[in-house]
Amino acid sequence: MSETVNSFPQTLTIAGTDSGGGAGVMADLKTMQEHRVFSTAVIVAVTAQNTLGVQDFMALPKKLIDEQFASLADDLAIKACKTGMLADAEHVDIVVDNLKKYDFGPIVVDPVMIAKGGAALLTDDAIEVVKRDLLPLATIVTPNLPEAERLTGLSIKSDAAMREAAQQLQAAGTKNIIIKGGHGNTDTVRDYVLLESGKDFWLSAPRVDTVRTHGTGDTLSSAMTAELAKGKDIETAIRIAKDFVEAAIRNTIQVGHGHGPLNHWA
Ligand code: PLP
Repeated sequence: MSETVNSFPQTLTIAGTDSGGGAGVMADLKTMQEHRVFSTAVIVAVTAQNTLGVQDFMALPKKLIDEQFASLADDLAIKACKTGMLADAEHVDIVVDNLKKYDFGPIVVDPVMIAKGGAALLTDDAIEVVKRDLLPLATIVTPNLPEAERLTGLSIKSDAAMREAAQQLQAAGTKNIIIKGGHGNTDTVRDYVLLESGKDFWLSAPRVDTVRTHGTGDTLSSAMTAELAKGKDIETAIRIAKDFVEAAIRNTIQVGHGHGPLNHWA
């Protein structure tokens, strides 16, 4: 009998691992798998982590990161990629250099800074490098409210401030922006989207009362990356990703004793 060969678009996550399986590269690969793409990973940092928090982490040496990029570029046909935890300024630089060297399609930048448990996943001095060197390469950037505040220097307490922050990020060179409202305290979670075309809109969903939201940002950005790899336009990719995350939060699973993961099968 001859083999059946299926082809799936190939995607890449450039990020840190979560030994606990709920966030980082692990959430990215699970999400991408659910979106029926073939997912690959360049590991930038390794964390010792569970649902209670990040116990330790270490970023990998430049040579090994460069080699992972080269291995993929030599053999695969990546159609879209995302960045997640990048650890520090040196590692942001390494990733930027590789993204300039190789074409991995549209780039989704999740500017991961602080885990919900409080651990810093990006050093303060690296934020400037992200702004200056990484954001201009991004097809879309996906900050939550605290990240958007750090990236713009604005205090974001109103719809008008969310709009202003998105406009500032766009003026600094990122084509499309989604500012996620999940870190606010309103009954309805509202995300603001500003597209390259100038079109803007809000995405609203009722807030789910749960501690099981570990890896939400990773899941959203990975779902978007997978949809972009499949050729979806940016607005469609954003809407599909948002619906996926909402379902994954509403139907969470019981894992660990703390800040549990989403249900990627939902
Ligand atoms: N660990 C890693 C490696 C991550 O990339 C992230 C988020 O991007 C987290 C932990 C934090 O996840 P959360 O803030 O959802 O708990």
